[in-house]
Amino acid sequence: MTKVAVLGSTGSIGRQALDVIGRYPDRFEVFGKVNSETPPDAVEAMVAHPDCDIVLVAIAGAAALRPTLAALKAGKTVALATKEVLVMAGDLVMAQAAPGQIRPVDSEHSAIWQCLWGERPESVSRLVITASGGPFWAQPERDLDDVTVEDALNHPRWSMGPKVTVDSATLMNKGLEIIEARHLFGIGLERIDVVIHPQSTIHSLVEFVDGSTKAQLGHPDMRLPIAIALAYPQRLPGVVEPCAMESVGRLDFHPLDPVRFPAVRLAREAAAAGGSRPAVLNAANEAAVHAFLAHKLPFGRIVKVVEAALGSVPETGADLDALLEADRLAREYISNSVGTLRK
Ligand code: MG
Repeated sequence: MTKVAVLGSTGSIGRQALDVIGRYPDRFEVFGKVNSETPPDAVEAMVAHPDCDIVLVAIAGAAALRPTLAALKAGKTVALATKEVLVMAGDLVMAQAAPGQIRPVDSEHSAIWQCLWGERPESVSRLVITASGGPFWAQPERDLDDVTVEDALNHPRWSMGPKVTVDSATLMNKGLEIIEARHLFGIGLERIDVVIHPQSTIHSLVEFVDGSTKAQLGHPDMRLPIAIALAYPQRLPGVVEPCAMESVGRLDFHPLDPVRFPAVRLAREAAAAGGSRPAVLNAANEAAVHAFLAHKLPFGRIVKVVEAALGSVPETGADLDALLEADRLAREYISNSVGTLRK
């Protein structure tokens, strides 16, 4: 029996994780649930408890960092859905983690992980992360400043929480996922790319040095990567319906337009600069998305204010305190910018 602590139990991933756990009662048991009301000390005590086996981290955003570090320090397996943890503090988190201690839940990273099973690191030449493109990719004539909250939350393929859904619409989600992949798989930024794949059937691909490519396919349903992270190395029977290729029809792929969607470039630059830049990117984006959801910032300004924050928030360093300070300064910068914009 695997006892699972579910952090972020009321969010989209948390609820789907509880669904998976409930469907396999002979395999899993909920050790504890945490929501945004739970005091941080109680969260850290729960994840470090000797009877807890796996910690599923699905708290939204940077708030997931401390519980993740506490779970890793206590030697727990971490099923990580919150990519912001690795964007903000990937070096610190990976330094704390033993090989295999973190299992990806993000669908693209689950796909890459599955493609890498049984492969040697030196055999890998490139990771290709697929992007649905979000709701606006296929509307090149549309002025992004006119996008409403309702439009942005209307994702064509995936049902997800509001933060990641807006990130999918700006394509910042793919920028964050490049940084996440870099840390999870220890591969250079220059060997991680993004391709637009509107059907969201292929969840990502790995290219190998011999010219072979592996892909993982499935219906866009987060319960599959959740189940894989919880049950590894076993595969649970009947988690989702198989993706019958006879009925799939065509699969399309397109390059990403870096001018209309500059978020991926911005994320690459922040990751390459290192230090506290990824933490600034992450916090500025989180704050800007929340401002958009609160109708205080136009959609088309989200990535622009993140870029401005990267240019304005001073470098603080890369230890935990420095990253938390960069996170605070970036949120403060966005708050001030949004206030200025409204005047
Ligand atoms: Mg994803």
